[in-house]
Parts: sequence; C-alpha cells; structure tokens
Amino acid sequence: MKSALNARDSSTALGMTTGQGNSLKRIGIFGGTFDPIHHGHLILAREALEGLALEKVLFIPAAASPHKPNFESAAAAARLEMVRAAIEGEPRFEFDPMELERSSPSYAIDTMEVLRKREPGAEFFYLVGEDNVALLNTWHRFPELAKLVQFIVLDRSGRQAEHPYPVIRRHLDISATDIRNRVATGRSIRYLVPPAVEKIIRERQLYREPEK
Ligand code: ATP
Repeated sequence: MKSALNARDSSTALGMTTGQGNSLKRIGIFGGTFDPIHHGHLILAREALEGLALEKVLFIPAAASPHKPNFESAAAAARLEMVRAAIEGEPRFEFDPMELERSSPSYAIDTMEVLRKREPGAEFFYLVGEDNVALLNTWHRFPELAKLVQFIVLDRSGRQAEHPYPVIRRHLDISATDIRNRVATGRSIRYLVPPAVEKIIRERQLYREPEK
C-alpha cells in the first residue's frame, strides 16, 4: 500500500515508532541544486520534519548534478549563501557544504557514506522530488544507497504514486526553473522565495540571462 504521510500517521505508515522509546536519531537528507532554494523546498522540508518526526533536515547543495549534466547553475558560493540565508532561524534545519567541496559530480552514495560514519546510530530519510523517482534506480551504486536510506518522495503532480516509496503529499507548484525564468523576464519572485534569498538574487544579479 502506498502511504501518504502527514503529521498524524507518517510514523505508522513507515512501520516505525517515534518519540520516546525510539533511540535512533532520525535525520532527513535534502539534496538538490537549490538554484535557488525556494518555498517549495522549505515547506516540504518542514512537512517532513513533522510528519516523519525527524530530529533535523540537512540540506546538501549539489556541486554538479549527475542528473542535469548540461545545466549550468549559479556559482556554488551563491547557492550555498542562499541555502544558509533561507534556513536561518530554523534550528532544526542545517546545511552541509560537503558536496561543493568535493570534485563533481555529486553522488548521493558518497555523501551518505560520509554521513553514516559521522552518525553511525542514525536512521536516514532521503527526500527526493517525484520528478526524480523514475530514474532513482539508475543513481550511482543505487543498491548500496537504498540500504543506507529510506527514500521519501515529495509529491509534485498530485497524481497517484507509481513507486514503492512513502510520499509526502503536499502539492506545491513552485520550481527553481520558474523562478529563474521570472527573474530573467523581470517578473516578481516575491512569496516564492524567502526575502533574504530574493535579496541575494538581486544583489548578486543572478539569473538575469534567459536560459538557453
Ligand atoms: P529545477 O527547476 O532547477 O529543476 P527544482 O525546483 O526541482 O529545480 P532542485 O534543487 O532540483 O529544485 O530540488 C531539489 C529536490 O527537491 C529535487 O528532488 C526536486 O524534485 C524536489 N523539489 C523541488 N521543488 C519541489 C516541489 N515544489 N515539490 C516537490 N518536490 C520538489
């Protein structure tokens, strides 16, 4: 049975106990290009935090995504600065720049092996957007990755899921592509990104060029 998660039933949907009596740390991992990070990411991360009773969500900006080989993203430093600004003030959101400090492309399995060593007693929940699920089993060393994490799918279409993973059902029609296009064509991005992220986009003059 596919499970739609919400704050009330997520832990039982995953067949786990939460809160007292469960000594394993539950950590959400949220990888992405975050070019830029937007309210879709933030609302869904918050949903995961509550719905899955996570201790924290770790945002991990990717250097070059192996899934977007022809895509030229904003400088890593700018994307990292935006992630940092977006999550400021939310104590249970953290970021880790490790993928930006490694040579690209960014493979999730390399990241998870580092995190597993760092937090040997933790249970990892890897958040992945619905648009990425079809290719999940082509990810580098997928079988090993699947042993290290529980994948959690973030609904994007509102459609019935056709995969075996638990789903966070919160349909938010916000994408970084749309935000970049809006900036390039002079339209507003207010309410799509936190004000601090909008400020960085303006100050650094990001996304001015239309995408090819
Ligand atoms: P782009 O438009 O450039 O592809 P994006 O908005 O999908 O970017 P990413 O940084 O690629 O943002 O997102 C990181 C992860 O979050 C991906 O797995 C993506 O599918 C997922 N994601 C992003 N936005 C949403 C959304 N509105 N609903 C559900 N999942 C999302």
